Amino acid sequence: MLLSVEDAQAMILNALAPRPRVVMRPLTEAYGCLLGQDVAARDDIPPFTNTSMDGYAVRADEVSAARADHPVVLTVQDTIRAGHWVSSPLRPGHCFKIMTGAPVPETADAVVPVEWTRPAGAESVAILQAVAPGQNLRYRGEDMCQGSLVLSKGTRITAPVAGMLATLGWAEVAVVAPPKVAILSTGDELREPGEALPPGTIRNSNAYALYAAIKEAGGEPVLFPKAPDDPEVIRQRFADAAQSCDLIVSSGGVSVGDFDFVKGVIESLGTLTLWRVNLKPGKPLAFGQVLGTPVVGLPGNPVSALVTFELFVRPAIRTLLGDPHWARPVVRLPLVQNFSIVEERRHYVRARLVLKDGRLALWPHGNQGSHVQTSWQDVDALMVVPEGTGPYQQGDELEAMLLSLDHVRPLGHEMPI
Ligand code: AMP
Ligand code: MG
Repeated sequence: MLLSVEDAQAMILNALAPRPRVVMRPLTEAYGCLLGQDVAARDDIPPFTNTSMDGYAVRADEVSAARADHPVVLTVQDTIRAGHWVSSPLRPGHCFKIMTGAPVPETADAVVPVEWTRPAGAESVAILQAVAPGQNLRYRGEDMCQGSLVLSKGTRITAPVAGMLATLGWAEVAVVAPPKVAILSTGDELREPGEALPPGTIRNSNAYALYAAIKEAGGEPVLFPKAPDDPEVIRQRFADAAQSCDLIVSSGGVSVGDFDFVKGVIESLGTLTLWRVNLKPGKPLAFGQVLGTPVVGLPGNPVSALVTFELFVRPAIRTLLGDPHWARPVVRLPLVQNFSIVEERRHYVRARLVLKDGRLALWPHGNQGSHVQTSWQDVDALMVVPEGTGPYQQGDELEAMLLSLDHVRPLGHEMPI
């Protein structure tokens, strides 16, 4: 019996010993990182009571009788601009002209929007409508109260979080250092993009796909020179990577071919904990450790490498970061087409997400070959087809792992390929 995906995930994650390191980073370089500490508000935010409208700061009781046909006329005492502080108290029968974001003096308690006024001579304004006390004011401390916890450790730094940190004055922030993830490609046939391509050779695409996937997952990719199918060279690469990285990800050489040496190298330098999982594509996955560093040996086919990255490496990177929420969301969605492929193993099917009558639905790609890269470029979900089940009809619901929502289109407006 092959190991299930869930058992393999549990074995891999349990074997990791996360030791998240906290480092300081400039805020502009912290996007996507996890906060390394709880953040309390250093100040009240807003730091002073200010106006949410361009208008006139008044005492509400002085304008309570104002109507369009019976305006209250006030003398404009001064103009308060954003970024400027006016300390003189508001005198009776007066108002301050005031701009959005400008501090409201304590002696005023409401702002009449400029649209509710009309000029009344050079130094006066006619108020056409009453305001309630507090109306159009943004009170000091209303958003964040000095000393209160506003962001917790482990929060991902997104645009709104970066804005909050900047608001609180953090030029540099404590973040969890991305784990270093070594990329080792194996195969006599591999040539880098830009190199000559003699007959029988192909491009090393996995290294670059994995580089991007590791970054997206929150790791720091470290590219090692590719290794030919030579156990000595592969051993050397693994030993080098184990010295300097927190996790090693190899691709290729892990199946049952005569020149698949990765498993043997893992065993010779450390331990092989698991090999082969009940899934398609990606069955020959290997996991273990070399010289104390965890190793995931991914299969070589480009799609198998990325599917197994999603299922095993991304969760490992998230776990090393200290993130307990490593799992992608799984949702049940209907098929917009029949799906007739039946596999003995659990099948992770590349599927587009489309909008049909305003609801998300699954549209699996036709060619599911594990060498076919074009059927991943617009994919937002891996549809999970239980082992031995199918065929499925249009409208049947299946579980899908959501990878992104980047390519969602109304049905009929999907990407051209
Ligand atoms: P292997 O697991 O080494 O037998 O490789 C399986 C398939 O994946 C073969 O067709 C390899 O040529 C291909 N492959 C292996 N490594 C890579 C790579 N780094 N980039 C692209 N294709 C690869
Ligand atoms: Mg190979």
